[in-house]
Amino acid sequence: MSDRLIVNDLPVLPQITPEYDPWDPLRSLQTHGEHRLTSVELTVTNLCNMRCEHCAVGESLLASEGPRIPLNVILKRLDEVEGLETISITGGEPSYHEQTVREYIVPLLRYAKERGVRSQINSNVTLDLSRYEAMAPYLDVMHISFNYLNADDFYEVGFVRTDRRVSATTAAKLYERMVENAKALASGGMFVSAESMINYRTHAKLSGIHKLIREMGCRRHEVHPMYPSAFASNLPVLTLDQTRAAVHRLLDDRDRDLWMLFGTLPFYACSPLEEDRELVTRLRREPNVTVRNDPDGRNRLNVNLFTGDVFVTDFADVPALGNIHADRLDQVFARWKDHRLSKTVSCHCPAANCCGPNLLVVDTYYKDVDFAQRKALV
Ligand code: SF4
Repeated sequence: MSDRLIVNDLPVLPQITPEYDPWDPLRSLQTHGEHRLTSVELTVTNLCNMRCEHCAVGESLLASEGPRIPLNVILKRLDEVEGLETISITGGEPSYHEQTVREYIVPLLRYAKERGVRSQINSNVTLDLSRYEAMAPYLDVMHISFNYLNADDFYEVGFVRTDRRVSATTAAKLYERMVENAKALASGGMFVSAESMINYRTHAKLSGIHKLIREMGCRRHEVHPMYPSAFASNLPVLTLDQTRAAVHRLLDDRDRDLWMLFGTLPFYACSPLEEDRELVTRLRREPNVTVRNDPDGRNRLNVNLFTGDVFVTDFADVPALGNIHADRLDQVFARWKDHRLSKTVSCHCPAANCCGPNLLVVDTYYKDVDFAQRKALV
């Protein structure tokens, strides 16, 4: 018999806090002594009202799309994942069509809630508030991108790759709506987590961005360096020195009451550079700051709800490893664990709570480093 507490037929789960982050692959690694499939990301649309210059799935965005695989087929595949702990719903903009919210997103979130699985949706929250409110009863984390100090920044970043002309006035209206929606959702009790990138545009203004995120009432500020993938392939890449300095500045200036989560950082406890190890040590010491190991390539698979293709990440540079019409998700995950690329990034230093860099980080900064030969020094 399960020892989980059930109230009103729904499992009662622990609060998501800096001490308990269900998306960190380290948790299942510590429990099972190996990476297990505990997280599934579902791409529910390839449509989006924006075309951000850094979009991680930019090349897959479409102007129109065909039918999705029936929901019951998706749920059956999720049912088969015994150790499922988290799902993430992503796009495009998942709420682009209200019908998708009604027919796929809300049922998927309800399924997760009833099963005691945590859920996240990645959204730009620029559309009708009612679409996001419909998710509220079931959703654990509303994940938004926020890389701006004002509507001009938003206009510059958010529409560069569009082939139709979007006026500055239209963009400003969307910006206002995004800010108002984030505030309304947060004040209604939703866990809104705003993510900023560290890149050539933002690295000097992250402290101002952090302040706005705080003012919107977000419960967490996530910060990830931008890596050259998909639309971002041709954007300038920061040096490790610039990235390290940006993290230090943000730590100096941040509001200590707001949880800050850093992810995909290219700094490791095994670094021969003292300045890297110093930053790793500082991040550990700072209250209300966590560093998440990257789920991609560790405990997560991505499923495309149109083709059924299953990927190891949503960054699409590694081809599909299977398809839900033919494979169970745990079979695809076993295939990934045997994959040549998986073995290149499978280090683990328990004392440092670290399970190594992901493929994008290695490709960007550490092509010549064999992490399997390194060990944490702090
Ligand atoms: S797990 Fe890998 S990246 Fe992390 S400290 Fe150890 S060797 Fe370095």
